[in-house]
Amino acid sequence: MTPQEALQKYFGYSKFRHQQEAIIQHVLNKQDVMALMPTGGGKSLCYQLPAVLLNGLTIVISPLIALMKDQVDSLNVSGIPAAFLNSAQTPEEQRHLVEKLKHNQVKLLYLAPERLFGQENKLVPFLKTLNVVQIAIDEAHCISQWGHDFRPEYLMLAQLKNEFPNVPVIALTATADKLTQKDILEKLNLHRPAVFVSSFNRANITYRVIPKKSSFKQLISFLKERPDESGIIYCLSRKSTEDLAADLKDEGFAAEAYHAGLNNEVKAKNQEAFLRDDVKIIVATIAFGMGINKSNVRYVVHVDLPKNIEGYYQETGRAGRDGLASEALLLYSPGDAGKLQHFARIEGNEEQSRIMLNKLNDMVKYCQLQSCRRQYLMNYFDEAFPPNCGSCDVCLTEFKRFDGTLIAQKALSAVSRLNERFGVNYVIDFLRGSKNEKIREEHKQLKTYGIGADISKVDWQRYIRELVTLDYLLVTGDGYPVLKLTNQSSLVLKGIQKVEFIETQTTEEHHTEAAPPHEAELLSRLKNTRRDIAELENVPAYIIVSDATLL
Ligand code: ADP
Ligand code: MG
Ligand code: ZN
Repeated sequence: MTPQEALQKYFGYSKFRHQQEAIIQHVLNKQDVMALMPTGGGKSLCYQLPAVLLNGLTIVISPLIALMKDQVDSLNVSGIPAAFLNSAQTPEEQRHLVEKLKHNQVKLLYLAPERLFGQENKLVPFLKTLNVVQIAIDEAHCISQWGHDFRPEYLMLAQLKNEFPNVPVIALTATADKLTQKDILEKLNLHRPAVFVSSFNRANITYRVIPKKSSFKQLISFLKERPDESGIIYCLSRKSTEDLAADLKDEGFAAEAYHAGLNNEVKAKNQEAFLRDDVKIIVATIAFGMGINKSNVRYVVHVDLPKNIEGYYQETGRAGRDGLASEALLLYSPGDAGKLQHFARIEGNEEQSRIMLNKLNDMVKYCQLQSCRRQYLMNYFDEAFPPNCGSCDVCLTEFKRFDGTLIAQKALSAVSRLNERFGVNYVIDFLRGSKNEKIREEHKQLKTYGIGADISKVDWQRYIRELVTLDYLLVTGDGYPVLKLTNQSSLVLKGIQKVEFIETQTTEEHHTEAAPPHEAELLSRLKNTRRDIAELENVPAYIIVSDATLL
């Protein structure tokens, strides 16, 4: 049977997606593979289909025992003999399974890593007596401390290649973080692996960020527009998942909570109900979702700020696995960012904490974007993408933009004149020609002093923030954050790179005749929320920083 025939016969699909076919071919040729594909991209098929075609046993390492059953059931339904081994099975069940394995009656065996390499383990010697033809490591990023979902028991998988030197290993993950990728390859000891990176773009998902004001009200109005649709709402804390689920129930929504602190029975029950569409909404911490294959999740809402782009992207990726239009909505408040910075600092060691803060910072930048969110996400994953996706809130909003190159040049030259020694507020004072004696006396002889007096302080803050987001400026420094130029600054200063800013009510007075839209109308339309974010951000929660220090 060819891969194409097996795809049709066992999985009922007519075409391969992404690089599935090439990946499968490599495994069939007994080569090690690392496959990176977005969540919902179709990673499972990359080892399931070879498992069907190869004459022998495929071992699948998967982190969550709870989910193995679902996967195994659905394979069995498709006529593919699969089984899992876990501690909840009775000795009788285990004996039965061993018999089946001995008689080559199982194609895929799902295991948690600690099963394979736990203490006093007799499993590996037994498996070696069988004809193991493929080892698949799902959610392979769990092996890396750099990843967002480290599981210490995954480290045991380093022994795999020693125990099964001739068996091709396929590592699968949706993590695009370079550091994590490198770490996975090293830790797993793969032999000259072929690395497949699929596009991470999930074209059917629309990304939106709105300023978090009264989150419950905002959520209700979002949900009311989607009464029969299924979705996941992510919260930061366990308690808030329970509170929110209860409040949603009070409002008549079929919602349940899910977090790691609930007892297994409740977790299983809620997850099951969600999968069966008995419960439309699951309100969860990030403990929910890995490996869950529910195809018709129409939206993923983040009520609280995620800690990093990797996690956020993986969570939003759970929407729209069926390829139909789906939404990702994030409620952003600078206050959340402050809270997370605090956590990042006290958690872990210094190095770890620096990495976490940087990642958080990238997350905040995403929320504050005034350009295409999808482009930012793709660039984050090192993928080039044109600047206008047409299906994120920024692209969907027809902002009035104006050529802000001159403004940008003023800001950059001020930073340069000040020898990159001062913070945002000082630079703005300088630009505006502050009457402050000290600043004035020190700099008034410079030609640049006061060149930005026509622009308000608030607007300057916004422009500078945007310049930082666009990497034309950098905030850095130990303790006292200082603005510095970047490699790209000179492109703007020389006029080679143009910069555009978005008009707001205040800038409109300067740049257009148009009357500002009515406030109430703005609030009622999701599309226009970028403007609100700009307002919210004028609170001094100015936290775009690329180094360890966050304000
Ligand atoms: P991942 O593990 O990458 O998050 P899954 O393996 O769970 O994604 O697959 C996501 C969905 O895509 C599943 O519903 C799966 O059946 C479906 N799928 C996988 N490959 C194909 C294909 N070639 N054509 C159509 N649907 C596919
Ligand atoms: Mg998967
Ligand atoms: Zn876009």
